[in-house]
Amino acid sequence: MHQMVGYHRPAAVAEAVRLLAEPTRVAMAGGTTLRHDGGAAPVEVVDLQALDLDSIEADGPLVRIGATTTLQALVDSDAVPDLVRRTARAELPSTLRSRATVGGTIGSAESDSLLLAALLVHDATVHFADGRTAPLGDVLEVGLGSGDLIVGVTVASLGATAIAVTGRTPADTPIVAAVGRADEHGMRLALCGVAATPRLVEPAEVDALEPPGDFRGSPAYRRHLANVLSARVLEELS
Ligand SMILES: Cc1cc2nc3c(=O)[nH]c(=O)nc-3n(C[C@H](O)[C@H](O)[C@H](O)COP(=O)(O)OP(=O)(O)OC[C@H]3O[C@@H](n4cnc5c(N)ncnc54)[C@H](O)[C@@H]3O)c2cc1C
Repeated sequence: MHQMVGYHRPAAVAEAVRLLAEPTRVAMAGGTTLRHDGGAAPVEVVDLQALDLDSIEADGPLVRIGATTTLQALVDSDAVPDLVRRTARAELPSTLRSRATVGGTIGSAESDSLLLAALLVHDATVHFADGRTAPLGDVLEVGLGSGDLIVGVTVASLGATAIAVTGRTPADTPIVAAVGRADEHGMRLALCGVAATPRLVEPAEVDALEPPGDFRGSPAYRRHLANVLSARVLEELS
């Protein structure tokens, strides 16, 4: 857990950006990761909850989701694509879903996040406070820079989706999962549990992956799961 030595609660995005320019300060959304994990260095937290970034707006074939939208609000919204709602529900128990946010899920970048895999196949674009946008896959690969503030995510809402998961129990976080979406622009496939963060993959490259191993699965077992689960998703979408 971080040693928290200061607390700020800005009421405007510009003020949050100014506060976060100081490297000893970190953004705090739901705080579920920050209060649980964290480094040794003392930090001041910049609480994002007064920034009014928790709206969900449908815009034709897109949905814009504010960064501090909670996972429970995703589950409850008819405007959010089904796969995103289902994976938000699977991500955490209800106590944590009512605190944890979309921006914090991107900031945490957990390898086994089904929600991140779902956002990837829904062509998620990340919007930053300084006006930059970037595909979620790039943000996960590079990581957030010091002072970066996510204000929202845009996802494509249409298309057919499929998901295949193996975990130690049905409700546990996945060891490996495959998530897919098909629309008139083609197929996207994303995998959890085969790299440091969930990632988009081409079906042909799945067998060449070199996943990390841990007590839940060796690299070879994870590669085997990735092949089997990807095949199930592709078959369902074909
Ligand atoms: C018991 C437990 C179980 C968990 N299980 C899972 C799991 O199964 N799968 C999973 O994926 N995660 C899991 N997590 C991790 C965590 O709960 C989630 O990733 C959660 O969605 C984080 O959201 P938050 O809003 O609480 O983030 P916070 O803790 O507030 O922040 C997390 C990180 O993101 C940064 N951040 C937050 N918002 C922004 C923003 N708008 N702009 C820029 N940076 C930002 C923070 O500075 C911090 O580095 C678990 C955590 C706990 C405590």
